[in-house]
Amino acid sequence: MKTIKVVLVSLLIFALAACASADKKTKTDVLVIGGGGAGLVSAITAANAGKNVILVEKMSALGGNTIISATGITASDTKYHTESGISFTKEDHFKRTMETGKNLANPELVEILVNRSSDAIDWLTDLGLKLKVRSEKEPFWLVPVEGHYGSQLVGVLINEANQYKNLEVRTKTKAVKLEIEDGKVIGATVEDEKGTYVISAKSVILATGGLNNNPEMIAFYNEKYKNINTEMTTPGATGDGIVMALAANADLVDMQYFQVRPLSSNGDWYHERIIAAEDLSGILVNAKGERFVNETLAPKALAAEILKTDEHSAYAIFDNRVLNTPDGTKFFTKGKGVQANTIEELAALINIDAATLKKTIDDYNQGIDPFGRTVLGKVIEAPYVAVLTKPSNHYTMGGLKVNAQAQVIDKNNQPIPGLFAAGEVMGGLYGDGRVAGNNTLDDVVFGKIAGLSAIK
Ligand code: ADP
Repeated sequence: MKTIKVVLVSLLIFALAACASADKKTKTDVLVIGGGGAGLVSAITAANAGKNVILVEKMSALGGNTIISATGITASDTKYHTESGISFTKEDHFKRTMETGKNLANPELVEILVNRSSDAIDWLTDLGLKLKVRSEKEPFWLVPVEGHYGSQLVGVLINEANQYKNLEVRTKTKAVKLEIEDGKVIGATVEDEKGTYVISAKSVILATGGLNNNPEMIAFYNEKYKNINTEMTTPGATGDGIVMALAANADLVDMQYFQVRPLSSNGDWYHERIIAAEDLSGILVNAKGERFVNETLAPKALAAEILKTDEHSAYAIFDNRVLNTPDGTKFFTKGKGVQANTIEELAALINIDAATLKKTIDDYNQGIDPFGRTVLGKVIEAPYVAVLTKPSNHYTMGGLKVNAQAQVIDKNNQPIPGLFAAGEVMGGLYGDGRVAGNNTLDDVVFGKIAGLSAIK
């Protein structure tokens, strides 16, 4: 009886799977997993070479974290630099990238990124993205002539992808497992609303982004960031590509490094000078109303200390003088801060013991500091302000080990046949720090490399 039941259940599952795939192609040349910047670029590249491409995206819309990229794209020696007479050379670009990553990035990959940045910009311009050099002070960034960068970038990529009849996009379709035969990746199992089915492919490109929305996984790779807040990322960034590739024996690099900032609230990051600037600066207090840290620590170290508090958050307390700076006003307004004319009233608003908060602030104002700050400010001018702040992370520096052809490398240092990666899921380009704007450049540069390697 039991055996019959098992057989019937198996048949049912098989029938459902067949049903799910009946109306869909289940064979392609290139399967791209993930529809952010890197996935779109690699899919367009392979389609442009005449190959059949299926791109699966687990969310209902394309864009990933790429769509929330705010600043712009980093690039060097581009036509925009020539036209504006503002210089940012390949040498500058290489140096800045390596130094920001504390010289831990793979120089071979960084060199490719830098050398191809100008071509990447020409390509994006041809697709319709309108860019300009940000300023003489920040010549490394190309920013949109107007409007939001990430949404325009994703917009031109989607527009381009739509031109190819041989490129099919399937949203709400999540890859759950790579199919492997004799050590070669030959497709993936995917899930959609109707069921589970396999898409067979000559090559698979992982473009699943980072693990920014998976705090448990972040803590696994760096326990300092346990309980990190995820408000600076999008929902799809859960590390799926890493998990799937590990099952194919892929190797990882730099997984302990994340871009983390301590002062985050309601989807924004704020400048640490609110609590760290000379003279004007405020303090951080825990739920008891006590200081617990040297507020001038480097951002990542400060974030780790805030995460150690029972609440994994802190109140930034400052006075009217900080409130009147651009950083202070922004933090207060966007971070939904509260203000009061006395410390006691402020304490009541944030539900902290008034006597403790008063003593904490008096001690600080008198220069009493058990935490080793070399520069102390003062909290002395009403109104007094409190803003709840939670460290949050934004970018995964590490990822799958890849070579210059975007092939995923296994634990024996050999390319895994049929498996490629591009974008945030790959490691090696950053080490312990990211130049903002290099990430969408790497989506384009390594998206193109992965797309071309996948069709060879
Ligand atoms: P990148 O900049 O590297 O392109 P993004 O975060 O912009 O990274 O895009 C990654 C995309 O991959 C997101 O849209 C995310 O929802 C998607 N994704 C992540 N995991 C899967 C999965 N298992 N199957 C399909 N799509 C996925």
